[in-house]
Amino acid sequence: ATPTALLVGTGRGAQLGILIKGPEVLESTRRVDTVVLDKTGTVTTGRMTLVDGDGEVLRLAGALEAASEHPVARAVADAARERFGTLPAVTDFRSTAGLGVRGVVEGHDVVAGRAEFVGATNAGSAGTVVHVAWDGEVRGRLVVADTIKPTSAQAVAELRELGLKPVLLTGDNAGAARAIAAEAGIGEVIAEVLPEGKLDVVKRLQAEGRVVAMVGDGVNDAAALAQADLGLAMGTGTDAAIEASDLTLVRGDLRVAADAIRLARRTLATIK
Ligand code: ADP
Ligand code: MG
Repeated sequence: ATPTALLVGTGRGAQLGILIKGPEVLESTRRVDTVVLDKTGTVTTGRMTLVDGDGEVLRLAGALEAASEHPVARAVADAARERFGTLPAVTDFRSTAGLGVRGVVEGHDVVAGRAEFVGATNAGSAGTVVHVAWDGEVRGRLVVADTIKPTSAQAVAELRELGLKPVLLTGDNAGAARAIAAEAGIGEVIAEVLPEGKLDVVKRLQAEGRVVAMVGDGVNDAAALAQADLGLAMGTGTDAAIEASDLTLVRGDLRVAADAIRLARRTLATIK
């Protein structure tokens, strides 16, 4: 039988904007000592804008990225449309999760994305770099940047006060990840992780004896959210992330992750 206090806990959670899959979730919440935070869409708004790049690189990459739904792609396509108006059509479009896209634009075989995907050399940047090549030659790069959510730094401070160690986990480049981590007050950064690698990072932390909470929003976070001792999804995120998680933070406010852990500890203290 479920103790009444647990049911009260889940009801209180709903008032705070936390959807809890079942009362048993509160037990794993209490033991968590590490919180892994996805960057894009979790710590940051996920609304990216172009901060550097222009010319044919922007026009052709913009045309290509118009076929992708990724936040990086949307920033590039929007900037290209604003600059050049209607963009040329894309054929033979292909997208590789966590790496980039390719397709044919005005007869050119265009590739855009991470350095290793495009065949470019990696240079440091505080933004997300989209390398662009066509017809087998690297032509230039675009830089897009995301902004931290106004509540993220306070949320990280609250998680620390609860004794949790925050870790930023992202597929983005190390420079962009470190810039956001510094703003949010996160000391540990794991960057340039491929979508399937996020799961391995959670497993590795668990093998070190850490009890891991993971907060994420993307399709690429789902496996890691399911593996974590406690998975928390942003309510503003994808269905895949929400389904894989134990808790959903309805408004997508990271401060509520700290509320959830506080609530679990208080509720379980009542039972003992
Ligand atoms: P995150 O872990 O931050 O949510 P993803 O795993 O979705 O990020 O993507 C990782 C990286 O792959 C992005 O930061 C970007 O550099 C690159 N990337 C993914 N999709 C695209 C795209 N459509 N165009 C350009 N770059 C892309
Ligand atoms: Mg994300």
